[in-house]
Amino acid sequence: MTTPDSPAIRAISERLPVASRIELSEDAAISNLDTFRAQIAATSRLGVVLKGNAYGHGLREMLELVHDRVDLLYVITPDDALTVRQWELSNSRVHRDTVVLGAIAAHEYVELAHAKVQVVIAGPVDREAVETILASKNRLQVHIHLDTGLGREGFTPQQLRSGEADFLLHHRDVFECIGVMTHFSNTEDVTEQSYAVEQLRVFHEGVGELRRRLIVGDVVERHTAASAGALVLPPSRLSAVRIGIGLYGLWPSSETRLSARVLGDTLPVLRPVLSWKVPSQIVKTLPAGSYVGYGCTYRCAVDTRIAVLPVGYFDGYPRLASGKAHVLVRGQRAPVLGRVMMNHLIVDVSNVTTGDGPIHA
Ligand SMILES: *Cc1c(COP(=O)(O)O)cnc(C)c1O
Repeated sequence: MTTPDSPAIRAISERLPVASRIELSEDAAISNLDTFRAQIAATSRLGVVLKGNAYGHGLREMLELVHDRVDLLYVITPDDALTVRQWELSNSRVHRDTVVLGAIAAHEYVELAHAKVQVVIAGPVDREAVETILASKNRLQVHIHLDTGLGREGFTPQQLRSGEADFLLHHRDVFECIGVMTHFSNTEDVTEQSYAVEQLRVFHEGVGELRRRLIVGDVVERHTAASAGALVLPPSRLSAVRIGIGLYGLWPSSETRLSARVLGDTLPVLRPVLSWKVPSQIVKTLPAGSYVGYGCTYRCAVDTRIAVLPVGYFDGYPRLASGKAHVLVRGQRAPVLGRVMMNHLIVDVSNVTTGDGPIHA
């Protein structure tokens, strides 16, 4: 496998004439965590979601920023949970409670139990998996996922009533039920939360049913809120929250931001953790009437000062952002002109005070 600091990658990086780079802001991450701490009760645990390579920010890099500052880590894959444990070992950190939210293969349970990783049980578990854990003499800490209306993972109310989760009680020697969770389907697309409120009602009923069946005790961690729930639906902030997108400094949607504005006296502040920076390749003025980029999709109405940035869709800048996006030049917005190309992107810097030297976008 090639890692970023392997000789091959280093050699390529050194040959690149102008490299763009990604920076993560520790200050922004801390400020976002403070924002969520201020939203939730002091008794609620602050968990962060590091799935999808920490939403593309880099799992290890984000661990560096948040591990010591949160109560819980949620990942999707068993591999990511084991990466967390390795990172903790090599950085002399304590074990942070780590929960695998996603699918687990029968052969993976034992290693997770051994690494003291918690898992989510989202439906009946294969007999084979139960027997392997039993044979290994490990006990697995689990959270029970209830499907309260997303139609994805979790036991439906009907499944609970017909006893499909009862194996958890019968195999107490294998499963220690420490949490119950659900996930909302429709918190960020709307400004009225009736569907989520109904999901919460079904959730509390489900917890009651699990108690009646003695599958869970009276004190069990209950968690339902992702970023949007934590921001705009106070009754969803139960004993823990699972913050994904908000940790990285982005609002789940404009509806969520609007709801938060209506709900509170002041709008919570979220600051983007990631910025992508590049020095300009060329800055020049195109006379009125000139076209910019492939397909002549943009024509300068007036003399226009442009900056050519050596970044394009090859580097991951979305071609769909052609003619729509802005970049920040010294903190000022500069519109992207015409099409995003494979290795280039053109921005209008006519209204940007640039000073001397290359422009850093
Ligand atoms: C992704 C995910 C979250 C985090 O969602 P955000 O909207 O990014 O905060 C929380 N819980 C579950 C189960 C998830 O899959």
